[in-house]
Amino acid sequence: MDRVISVSLGEIVLKGLNRKYFEDKLIKNMRRVLSDLGEYKIYKEQGKVYIEGIYENNEVAINRLKKIFGLVYISPCIRVSTEMENIKEASYEIMKEELKTDNPVTFKVESSRSDKRYPLKSPEISRQVGGYVLSRFDNLSVDVHKPQIQLNVDVKEYAYVYIRKERAYGGLPVGTNGKGLLLLSGGIDSPVAGFLMAKRGVEIDAIHFHSYPFTSERAEEKVMDLARIVSMYTGPMKVYSINLLNIQKEINKNCPEDEMTIISRRFMMRIAEKVAINRDYQALITGENLGQVASQTIYSMDVINRSIQLPILRPLVGMDKVDIIQWSKEIETYETSIQPFEDCCSIFLPKHPVTRPKIVDIEQSESKLDVDYLVENALESMKIIEIY
Ligand code: ATP
Ligand code: MG
Repeated sequence: MDRVISVSLGEIVLKGLNRKYFEDKLIKNMRRVLSDLGEYKIYKEQGKVYIEGIYENNEVAINRLKKIFGLVYISPCIRVSTEMENIKEASYEIMKEELKTDNPVTFKVESSRSDKRYPLKSPEISRQVGGYVLSRFDNLSVDVHKPQIQLNVDVKEYAYVYIRKERAYGGLPVGTNGKGLLLLSGGIDSPVAGFLMAKRGVEIDAIHFHSYPFTSERAEEKVMDLARIVSMYTGPMKVYSINLLNIQKEINKNCPEDEMTIISRRFMMRIAEKVAINRDYQALITGENLGQVASQTIYSMDVINRSIQLPILRPLVGMDKVDIIQWSKEIETYETSIQPFEDCCSIFLPKHPVTRPKIVDIEQSESKLDVDYLVENALESMKIIEIY
């Protein structure tokens, strides 16, 4: 009897001719989180991927694999050769581990065989395994409709027996859908936005704007902490860190107070676009959410879009705040996000920001600034931090 971990793939299965490309990326991403867990082997068999030889670190491996996009279920299995005697013994073994009580428990067996030459059909496998397991435990009974335990038997080149099915996030493997540059603030929304785009296969790096020394070093560390948590899902990440203070001072000096937020947001976009074009990112990603704050009206988003050519992906645009918070708790960025450190935008926050900015007015105000110079100057302050 060998212990292996099986993982089932979600949407990848629908990929037809491209499937191998997606599977190879997925396996590469799996290897990244397993690399320090000793000797192991990964192989594919009939639509699932199996990891052999990693049982000592089973729970650690499972928890890390849950964060790999493209996986739907993860199961620790016992693997045996396909003789019925072995399947029965493996089933007994795995039930024994699961049944930690003498109280009555209901179960059923669900079987599949991918090799149609196997002498028994699936219902017959279930019947025989079920009968055997029943005979070995006094407190078991069968319930085919709502069992407390479902014992699964997959007969392939080997037979796999398992009970646990840990849910992963599905999605597509990171790296199969281009590269995106995430505008990462210290707030609740942007880490969730990065997570959701990575879940669709986009490779993510981040860009962060600060106003040092008006904002503290501790505020910077908070952003790096967030990047570190997001990178558990996305893989190694670069954070481009840029000082916006000079630009904010210039806007503050030359433009109407109520346009501060929208104009500085347009500068962020221009700077991010420059970084993206130079370093081959195909889109920017933000945590903007329609109607959440004054700078996130449909008018503001329009004026923001007009500052650059590159697409801006806004995966949270139609979500409710409670759902975003729920995601941020789920991905474990919430506790860090709510730490009270000042953000660069809070430094020059206008009392009444415009909610219906007009592009002509904003361009008029910006004509008092040397936009190109300010953008280049800010880029010169750029630091790159590598997150693993
Ligand atoms: P978040 O919780 O992500 O900070 P928010 O609700 O506070 O979002 P805003 O402050 O209006 O909303 O920011 C909207 C989006 O603009 C953010 O989600 C982020 O993508 C980007 N952004 C804002 N501030 C910064 C910053 N200092 N550095 C990088 N990106 C930023
Ligand atoms: Mg914010």
